[in-house]
Amino acid sequence: MSEAIERLSAVKADLAKAATDHGRSPQNVTLIAVSKTFEPEAIIPVLDAGHRVFGENRVQESAGKWPELKNRYPDVELHLIGPLQSNKTREAVALFDVIHTVDRPKIAKALATEMERVNRHLPVFVQVNTGAEPQKAGVLPEDLDPFLKLCRDDLGLNVMGLMCIPPIEDEPAVHFGFLATLANRNGLDGLSMGMSSDYKAAIQFGASHVRVGSAIFGARPGPATQ
Ligand SMILES: *Cc1c(COP(=O)(O)O)cnc(C)c1O
Repeated sequence: MSEAIERLSAVKADLAKAATDHGRSPQNVTLIAVSKTFEPEAIIPVLDAGHRVFGENRVQESAGKWPELKNRYPDVELHLIGPLQSNKTREAVALFDVIHTVDRPKIAKALATEMERVNRHLPVFVQVNTGAEPQKAGVLPEDLDPFLKLCRDDLGLNVMGLMCIPPIEDEPAVHFGFLATLANRNGLDGLSMGMSSDYKAAIQFGASHVRVGSAIFGARPGPATQ
């Protein structure tokens, strides 16, 4: 058994325990295996073990490796969890099944136009910059409600929920609780939050999707935020 398979089983067991400990059904928490920076050789064992939900943060990198993997494993569900540039929307809508990083009108409009053009209406999450960090993507909390209105009412995007990446130096639970409040206020069930180091806390606060990379695939070369 490959190390990734062992780690995947351990993460699944921890996820199930975190869910049941907080009165939730493990089936209501989707585990996104974040395969960014890893080659197909590292991803295939996880596919062969039956896992089908994956996350990537770069359109270009994904376009290089996922079309072939999707041919071999047609029921794969691929999530874009990294920033999207408007000149990549065509490629992104063609390749991904869910987009987690809608955070500004230009991208929301480009996605809506492209989804309409190809008649492929993907579910999306709106990324919220819960820590209001200047360098970080995401709509500011105070701008969220009008932005959601634009996405849902004006553009007709299928908004599943909200996504956040808490500031490195903060207690993540504070941000998870805050994101859950924002989602609840807007009638949204989806919460994309929690990574390798904090997915159990995210589940406690209602995460519907956790994005787990290194705890499954091992350490990535380069900076952890890559
Ligand atoms: C890389 C990445 C993850 C996974 O990070 P790990 O700490 O390896 O689990 C989750 N979410 C986003 C947005 C990422 O870019």
